[in-house]
Amino acid sequence: MSEAKFRTPKGTSDILPEDHQYHTYIKKAVRHRCRQAGFKRIDTPLFEKKEIFERGIGEHTDIVEKELFMVGSHHSEEGMEAFALRPEFTASICRSYIEHGMKQLPQPVELYSIGPAFRHDRPQKGRYRQFHQFDLEVIGLSDPSLDAQLIHVCNKIFKDLRIFDRLTMQLNNIGTAENREEYIAALKDYFIGKERNLPDLDRTRLETNPLRLLDSKEEDTQILLKNAPTLDQFIGDESKEYHETVKEYLGELGAEYVENSHLVRGLDYYNQTVFEYWDNDTGGKNAVGGGGRYDPLIEMLGGQATPGVGFAGGMERIIYQMKQAGVQAPHKDQIDVFVAQLGPEAKKKCLSTISELRDLGVHTLGALGEASLKSQMRLADKFGAKYTLLLGQMEVKAGTIILRDMAAGKQKESKFEKAVPEIIKLIGKENLDTYVLRDGFNEQDED
Ligand code: AMP
Repeated sequence: MSEAKFRTPKGTSDILPEDHQYHTYIKKAVRHRCRQAGFKRIDTPLFEKKEIFERGIGEHTDIVEKELFMVGSHHSEEGMEAFALRPEFTASICRSYIEHGMKQLPQPVELYSIGPAFRHDRPQKGRYRQFHQFDLEVIGLSDPSLDAQLIHVCNKIFKDLRIFDRLTMQLNNIGTAENREEYIAALKDYFIGKERNLPDLDRTRLETNPLRLLDSKEEDTQILLKNAPTLDQFIGDESKEYHETVKEYLGELGAEYVENSHLVRGLDYYNQTVFEYWDNDTGGKNAVGGGGRYDPLIEMLGGQATPGVGFAGGMERIIYQMKQAGVQAPHKDQIDVFVAQLGPEAKKKCLSTISELRDLGVHTLGALGEASLKSQMRLADKFGAKYTLLLGQMEVKAGTIILRDMAAGKQKESKFEKAVPEIIKLIGKENLDTYVLRDGFNEQDED
């Protein structure tokens, strides 16, 4: 039984070292593929004015209506301000695009971000209150080739993570805002007199956000929808052509997809292309990622009309898929050398040996306490160290040190000064964990 008095808040979890291996692996794949495709990294604050999410995502979407995590109201010069933790990245990144005049940059501006997002939903499997996303945005131009290329980069990331075979990419075109207005009017007409048969939640949705009925999980709603007008009947010729071109380009890139006319995505800002990655077991319930084109968004946020297309992947759901697929996240957390010592002189000498080994790229632990050499050896074993260096009072006097190969269970005595070069030889130069600061940029330290 755990003795913990305090626990993580509901719907959140600690990322323990064994899961960080997966997070790091995903981040590396994302950074690598993004850099190859010319994306640059951006981080926006974890919270923004609530209004940004209301305007961008839509007041009557689940995300804003039910799931926004408020961070209290604060006095500012203008009065009370309401802030919310970001439920997703797109609205914040578009706010940043406007704020920093990125329209002056060569277009499209390609940005990516990795970090936590928050939704105050009822926690359940695959649905948390704090979760992590990676997010890609291509802002400034509207062209089917950008949609296809973005999807292609996402495919590459899922391939790198070795879960691509477990997913299908669902693709749809939801037309323009006008197309959807006409469709919504037709849908409302269709439901006149049928409202009573809708479950409560969907009856409300019919008023506030009728498109949400399309991906309703309620059986009664689904039955009623069978004879309802469908969105594709209202998509204009231009959008249809756009969609055909996206598909043609996807074909050119060898990217497979499933056409899904029910895919609408819950957010107000989307138009034209929408897509989601569904896993083969749970389908749309626990999509690992989704995105689409959001040409109206920047104007909705007060900027000049500027088109964009983006994607967000959910790290926790991706990690779940990786684990299901038996993908091991490679990591560098192993301990190469444990330094065991006995006596004050030995302890002092060990400190610089440990420091020297670490600087050379050897993962080194040691000189922890005053325990006997025997129990330190046991500790070395528990840490999984490959080698142990032993320095007792006798060795200090003789100017020697004992080097033990833990797996082979063999040890030998050598001159104290020879120990470090000997260890380096055994580990092999290619396995040393060193990094080079190139032009002031240290990639391995990037979070
Ligand atoms: P969305 O834009 O809502 O489709 O979110 C994009 C991706 O983020 C989803 O496909 C999920 O992988 C992930 N995601 C969204 N909400 C949650 C949540 N509450 N818990 C865990 N992952 C989530």
